[in-house]
Amino acid sequence: MQGSVSSSSLLAWVCWKLGVDLGKVDYRHTSQICPNCGAHTGQKYLSEHEHKCPECQYEINRDVAAAKVICHRGVTAAFAYRRAN
Ligand SMILES: [Zn+2]
Repeated sequence: MQGSVSSSSLLAWVCWKLGVDLGKVDYRHTSQICPNCGAHTGQKYLSEHEHKCPECQYEINRDVAAAKVICHRGVTAAFAYRRAN
């Protein structure tokens, strides 16, 4: 009988095996923040596919914008962790 492996534990193992840091970030509201200037741009409808910042005029695909916000949060958390340890 085979045991099941969750995707998060598999990812943790792969990162450990490769010597890559793994951390978790807050995924909430990532589509409501401008990755260029950090301004809150408000909730978007699912039909809105473009991020258009009224503050800095930055335009990009909304999913790419959300990914950039997640990346920024991860890098910020990693630097904060390394400074503290
Ligand atoms: Zn902006």
